[in-house]
Amino acid sequence: LTQDNQHIEIAANISSLNDIEQALELGAEGVGLFRTEFLFMGRDQMPSEDEQWTAYKVAADKLGTRPLIIRTLDAGGDKPIPYLNIGVEANAFLGWRGLRYCLDHSEIFKPQLRAILRASANHNVKLMFPMVSTVDEVRRAKALVRTVQEELRVAQLPFDEALEMGIMIEVPSAVLQAPQLAQEVDFFSIGTNDLTQYLLAADRGNAQVARLVNALQPAVLLAIQQVVQAARNAGIGVGLCGELASHVAALPLLIGLGLTELSMNAAAIPQVKAQ
Ligand code: PEP
Ligand code: MG
Repeated sequence: LTQDNQHIEIAANISSLNDIEQALELGAEGVGLFRTEFLFMGRDQMPSEDEQWTAYKVAADKLGTRPLIIRTLDAGGDKPIPYLNIGVEANAFLGWRGLRYCLDHSEIFKPQLRAILRASANHNVKLMFPMVSTVDEVRRAKALVRTVQEELRVAQLPFDEALEMGIMIEVPSAVLQAPQLAQEVDFFSIGTNDLTQYLLAADRGNAQVARLVNALQPAVLLAIQQVVQAARNAGIGVGLCGELASHVAALPLLIGLGLTELSMNAAAIPQVKAQ
């Protein structure tokens, strides 16, 4: 709670099931970003639908009634997964990654969607798509979700019919089209790690340009402002899950910009709450 009694939800970013207990001990009110890549990494073939379903269900069970935002596979760029055959790209961060890769690979995307939907039964699960660049991508992803829902109904496998779907805002085109994208989804989550690198045209992994990869750059703050405004105008939720969320000095600014949900690495939660 702020001094004027505004509740700011503080959630954790997690990359494995083991992260959840620590996140709860440190005061997380939920998981704002479940990076599912860990299930696909360090092995030579993709995890089956049932394997994923089990992992998502275990995570949701551990969280009880608290929210769990599961992000679909964000492969490519800084997250290479060799057996996906993305290959060597001249500009991997501008290449075949995140949602664009998944939309081209329904044999990978569909089992994950089925697993997430099945885990949503009797749990507070939300679905989130990464690396959205266009409205059309979101519509295609939603169409696939509808297909999966229909299949699950026919198979009499339960899922949450009211499952919320959201997108990460981490590409400049998504910032500019936030009002249109807000008509398609239930929530936005601003990914300032990628958004900063794309806005400043500076590779987040390149030490030579690290000075530019700064989420406090005015361009990034203006982008956050636009996205929050678009979400508020449309009446949908908006949170922030990039590293900036754990930047204690930036906290008054983020709250002042209207954000009421921040998701961060668990270790940062106590100091952010104290602030
Ligand atoms: C981001 O880009 O801000 C983000 C939270 O996602 P990731 O760091 O996994 O790319
Ligand atoms: Mg990202």
